[in-house]
Amino acid sequence: MEQIVSMGIIDSYFKKLKESLNVDVAIVGGGPSGLVAAYYLAKMGKKVSLYERKLAPGGGMWGGAMMFNEIMVQRDAIHILDELKVDYKPYVDNYYTIDSVHATSSLIYQATKAGAKIFNCTSVEDVVFLNNKVSGLVINWTPVELQKMHVDPLVVMAKSVIDATGHDCEVARTLERKNNIRLLTETGSVMGERSLSVDEAERTTIENTKEIFPGLYVAGMASNGVSGSYRMGPIFGGMLLSGEKVAKLIDISLSVSVQ
Ligand SMILES: Cc1cc2nc3c(=O)[nH]c(=O)nc-3n(C[C@H](O)[C@H](O)[C@H](O)COP(=O)(O)OP(=O)(O)OC[C@H]3O[C@@H](n4cnc5c(N)ncnc54)[C@H](O)[C@@H]3O)c2cc1C
Repeated sequence: MEQIVSMGIIDSYFKKLKESLNVDVAIVGGGPSGLVAAYYLAKMGKKVSLYERKLAPGGGMWGGAMMFNEIMVQRDAIHILDELKVDYKPYVDNYYTIDSVHATSSLIYQATKAGAKIFNCTSVEDVVFLNNKVSGLVINWTPVELQKMHVDPLVVMAKSVIDATGHDCEVARTLERKNNIRLLTETGSVMGERSLSVDEAERTTIENTKEIFPGLYVAGMASNGVSGSYRMGPIFGGMLLSGEKVAKLIDISLSVSVQ
């Protein structure tokens, strides 16, 4: 019995890991934008893996604002909540409130149910850079990163990579720092996030969701971080819409490259 439990876990984990060594889309970060992108791409039939540094995916959605576990979403993004079967309550005009624990767990459930594979406790420390294109990810266990242990990583190949790492836009920063390249931003570099301005930030989160270098897309707060736009606080419509947009962009790009 003891051996069966261990063998079952090891066999099924390594099957999942091996099947994810070459994917259509690799997503870095399991916040709302990454999870929504994972859901839509998996639903479109793409092979998707998502890497999350922490034990629990969900990013900054669990805690609402100052740990008041309610979040706000505007009407523009309600179709995504309907699609993902998330419950919400009307508040005023175009604004709705949602229990953040219900919302976060629903996003995780629907992304995995659609077929996306989530690897938690896994940190992305670099990209694979081939022929001037981002072609995959370099991954390691988070405890290895935290303990600064001298342990080599593993590599996952991907046709497209999404940086959904939030405020720090870690993948874009690493790509820029190491490879003497220009990103598709005003300065050619990661411009860094500005202070809080809700309306502007919500609009630009979606505008700035794009391919910033061949093979590398940005979504969610990382989009604004890369392009030098604002933060917005605990309103999540922009994050959800950004996840939906990046999935559509990648779907179009992968369909073109198949033809
Ligand atoms: C822990 C946390 C708490 C927050 N709390 C608040 C708050 O109280 N109020 C507020 O207004 N905003 C808060 N934010 C920001 C707000 O939640 C964001 O605007 C929103 O969650 C952004 O969504 P996102 O999809 O861009 O990514 P995020 O929700 O920021 O999630 C990004 C995810 O990427 C993961 N990640 C980052 N780098 C790597 C890597 N190299 N490898 C693997 N995984 C990686 C992170 O662990 C995180 O789970 C918080 C963000 C975080 C991460």
